[in-house]
Formats: sequence, structure tokens, C-alpha cells
Amino acid sequence: MENKPQNSLSGKVAIITGADSGIGQATADELSAKGASILINYHNDKESAEKTLKIVEGNGGKGLIFQCDVSDYAQVQKMYETTVKELGVPYIIVNSAGIDSQGEMVDEMDIAIFDTAIKTNLYGTFYSCKEFIKLRKAEGGEGKIINISSVHEDIPRAGAAEYCASKGAVRNLTRCLSLELAEFKINVNNVAPGMILTPMNQQAIDDPKELEKQVQSIPLKRAGEPWEIAKLIAYLVSEDAAYATGQTYFLDGGLMQNIGQGA
Ligand code: NAD
Repeated sequence: MENKPQNSLSGKVAIITGADSGIGQATADELSAKGASILINYHNDKESAEKTLKIVEGNGGKGLIFQCDVSDYAQVQKMYETTVKELGVPYIIVNSAGIDSQGEMVDEMDIAIFDTAIKTNLYGTFYSCKEFIKLRKAEGGEGKIINISSVHEDIPRAGAAEYCASKGAVRNLTRCLSLELAEFKINVNNVAPGMILTPMNQQAIDDPKELEKQVQSIPLKRAGEPWEIAKLIAYLVSEDAAYATGQTYFLDGGLMQNIGQGA
């Protein structure tokens, strides 16, 4: 074996959706530091996407910003076409774009809220996987898919049916894909964060009392940092993790072991 660390991503192209913020941005940092070129997808915050590009370039990496709404198939197709043209065929996809629940009970929830969550979190992931797989098969196989689900792929939460339903569906999408793609040596895994300090938790970040309340249900008694998730992703997309497929990797301070708390 050549004298090269197995976790090097040198020469690899990674598409990261939602790379302008939170976990996506931290992942762009981590993967570019390991040598990957990054397609930095953003939805509506160009300034933050430019910040991600600076981080990538600061790591000596190549990056390209692409605006796209992942819930729109034509836009996702265009993102893949552009990546191939400008950076090369992607070897890694990290589907991090997602939206949180709106806190509505089902009987009071606007259809549009349910629709948007499913379209973004589930269809967005499906569209992206679909385009990625076509390209990887045309290359003769190999590649890494990481879908960012959540502890809520498993834990139900009142007032978050749209979010939990979307993430539960991503759980099974990933598991089905791992079976469909094993023969092509394409690894497919979910990374399922617990509470991570990103803009998705801005309310708790801005309110120390609320944060304190929320971390009480986390055995390690703290929220996680985006870079902690990015480190796990970097491992899973490396050849060190070639045997990993079809799994959900929870990174949650022990939250999954502390769920019997009742409504
Ligand atoms: P974040 O809000 O910082 O990032 C989410 C990103 O998704 C943003 O860049 C946003 O613009 C993008 N996005 C939303 N809708 C989009 C669309 N239609 N098209 C393209 N991009 C879109 O939050 P985060 O914590 O970094 O979230 C990343 C992923 O992690 C999400 O899928 C989220 O559900 C999941 N997650 C987060 C936590 C947490 O506690 N932060 C916990 C579990 C799971």
C-alpha cells in the first residue's frame, strides 16, 4: 500500500448542500482540509457561501459556489451538470440542506408546511442521490453518499411531525440505497446529529436559559459543535470507512439512550 493516509481526499470532488451554514459549512472546511474540491451549494445566503469559499481556499482547496433550491429537481440537475463541468465528477455527496419543524400540531398544520419540509428534507435528498448515482454508475461505480438525518429519524416529537416524517423517510431511503448500490461499491450512510449549535438552534443559542433547559435531556449535558459532526463525515467518506454502509451514525451526546421521558 502506498504511503498515503487512507483518509486523504486528495483529487476527490464533493458536493455539499447547505454548505453556507452550520454542519454543511463545517463539512466543507473538514473535507477541503483533507484535499477535496467542494461544490458549495447555498439556497439564499450568498454572503455566507462566500465565507465558506474563503474557508475552502484557506485550506488550499478549490471551491465553487452554486445557488440552488434542493427541493427543485431541475435545479439539482443543473447543480450536478455544473459540478461535472467545472470541478469534475463528484465522488462524495453530503446532503446537509434541511429545514426544521415549525412547531405545529398536525390538525393545525398548513399543508404547505408539511409539503415544504418533505420537499426539502426528503425530495431534496432523493433528487441529489439520484443524480449522484447516475454519474457514479457511468464512472464504473465507487463513491460516498452521506445523508444528514437526525435523532428524529427515530425519536418522535410532538409539534414536529413534518420534520420527523421527513427524517424517518431519509433513514429508509439510505437503507434501501445501500442495498441497491453495494454491488457498485457506493457507500451510503446517514449521519444523525443530536442538538448541534448551528443557526437551526438559534433560539436556544440566543437564550442561555432555553439552552440550559434543552441540554438537560442530553446525557453529556451539552450541545454538540458542527465540527464534531464534520469529523465523523470526513471519516465516513474516506477509504478508512470502506466497510461502512447502510447505517445511521448517531452523534448526539448520548441522547438516543435517554429517550424514555414521555410526552
Ligand atoms: P443550518 O440551518 O445551519 O443549515 C441548513 C442549511 O440548509 C442552510 O444552509 C439552508 O440555507 C439550507 N437549506 C434549507 N432549505 C434549502 C433548500 N430548499 N435548498 C438548499 N438549501 C437549503 O442547520 P444545520 O444544523 O447545519 O442543518 C444541517 C442538517 O443537519 C439539516 O438537514 C438538519 O435537519 C440536520 N440536523 C441538525 C441538527 C441541529 O441540531 N443543528 C440536529 C439534527 C439534524
